[in-house]
Amino acid sequence: MARSASPGAPSGAPPAKWLIEKLDSIGLTHEIDSAGNLFATLPGASEKTVVVGSHVDSVPNGGWLDGALGVVTALEAMRRYVAEPNHPVTLKLVDWADEEGARFGHSLLGSGAAAGTLDLEEVRPLKDKQGTLLVDALKENGVELDRMLDAHVSLKKNQRESLSRISHRTRRRSRIAK
Ligand SMILES: [Zn+2]
Repeated sequence: MARSASPGAPSGAPPAKWLIEKLDSIGLTHEIDSAGNLFATLPGASEKTVVVGSHVDSVPNGGWLDGALGVVTALEAMRRYVAEPNHPVTLKLVDWADEEGARFGHSLLGSGAAAGTLDLEEVRPLKDKQGTLLVDALKENGVELDRMLDAHVSLKKNQRESLSRISHRTRRRSRIAK
């Protein structure tokens, strides 16, 4: 999905175009879920997945290492792993959208949506200091508040699919063993 704005941008975080460019440069495609979280997956021999990442938005005086270091570290792990001849497990990079919540005073927006713990009614009335509604800021970044929890549904769906694939394989293996 081509997007010029950052997935972290719903809160006004700096664009993460650079992150997408870096992922492109190592040949990794990315997906952005309905909450604006960015994922890049490097499939391995096993569907067991190691998720690495953080967020690129920050807070005033958060320092230059807040969140961004976790994303850059994850990016470096992906770059190293791509270059390896064998990929025993699946590696997934995540950049959570609006993790700090500096603009609207509500943290864990993207990760909360993915975890299914985000209370839509609690965040619906939130406004920034200029009086802009969170709902409108999200919309500007291609995120619909009422669809944000779909991020949780798709995460669970992926989990279920890989679990069922694993159990199929295990069943097959135990039949062979008999
Ligand atoms: Zn942080």
